[in-house]
Amino acid sequence: MSATERLYYNDSRLLEFDARVVDVSQRDDGAIAITLNRTAFYPTGGGQPNDTGTLEDARVLDCIDVEDEGILHVIQGLTPEIGENVHGRIDWLRRLDHIQQHSGQHILSAAFVRLFAAPTHSFRVLEHECEIDVALEDPTDERIEEAVDLANQIIWESRPIQIRQVTTQEAEGLPLRKEPAREGELRIIEIDDFDLTPCGGTHAKSTGEVGVIASRSWERAKGLTRIQFMAGLRVLADYRRANRTGREVASLFSAGRDDSPALVAKIIEDNKNLARRIRELETITSSVEAEQLLKDARTADNGTRVIARVFDDRDADSLRNLALALIAHPNVVALLGSRDRETARLLFARSSEGPSNMNELMRAACATIDGRGGGKPDMAQGGGKNVGALDKTIEDAAQRLIQG
Ligand SMILES: [Zn+2]
Repeated sequence: MSATERLYYNDSRLLEFDARVVDVSQRDDGAIAITLNRTAFYPTGGGQPNDTGTLEDARVLDCIDVEDEGILHVIQGLTPEIGENVHGRIDWLRRLDHIQQHSGQHILSAAFVRLFAAPTHSFRVLEHECEIDVALEDPTDERIEEAVDLANQIIWESRPIQIRQVTTQEAEGLPLRKEPAREGELRIIEIDDFDLTPCGGTHAKSTGEVGVIASRSWERAKGLTRIQFMAGLRVLADYRRANRTGREVASLFSAGRDDSPALVAKIIEDNKNLARRIRELETITSSVEAEQLLKDARTADNGTRVIARVFDDRDADSLRNLALALIAHPNVVALLGSRDRETARLLFARSSEGPSNMNELMRAACATIDGRGGGKPDMAQGGGKNVGALDKTIEDAAQRLIQG
């Protein structure tokens, strides 16, 4: 079987074509795949996703390059027969998006080479953005934006992008940005006076078609700099998302969009101050609460006053403040618990001169609430999942102290 003639090689804006079915096969997952003698559908490869569209009334869902066997069109719908002539249509917006991302990548990658001698190692078109892994030393926002600025300058000059077919030998004399991945006849994408790269993807006819490039974020990855960027239509979509987010935040403050970062920072600062003030106040209320609880304390034979209480939704700091306020009094053991829907929390503490061992008491208690915990003889804490057993666990511990 002969390879499929790739019509997209010569014209990335060819959106309709006629072809003959040369094979019909079934994929492992049961899907039907059509092979044509020629096609304008781009198959997944080189970091660029496949085209979609139609073959007669059938939808083309995927396109797979099987090299020597040709290009498989995975379809859904009426299956044509071998020998039949079919009319194919490419989904234009998806193709345009891929042209912009892919041509944009050539320009941006070339900009990194021009400015920082930093070659691109890999390229991916993701759902919302694209990624390139660049051998860029010391990445900073400024360096990356400098490359983005140069890329946009090249875009706005609307430089011609041409396809050149050369032999491997001819290619050796050309300043290619990357080594060709294949032997024999090579397809070179030339951006006028800026970049020469072997590539099989679909490209713009002029850099101006890319529209604009923006970088969204970057990170260090595997010794390289991974840069998230987007081009053309995607920049507009991302601007709309970012603007919506910015305006939604600003509307919470009844402020302008660009004023909101300072207002958010102020709220976070205010919140820290409030939390500090709450902790101070809690120390005061804890000692008042401790006085109240001591009135209901039960007294063991040895004179120890036992306070056993379970609270709802009381956090660890608050429980600890109360325990400290209680054991500031002589001869006190505090057996405190708190529960939320999923967790039971325990804190046992005694005044410094007491004889009982909180660590031992805690270990026994944790066994009954399916949890774990421990500590020192004068203070121990724990937690567990059996929230329903918390009341009884605390009461059992109190009884052990009272009855000695
Ligand atoms: Zn390319």
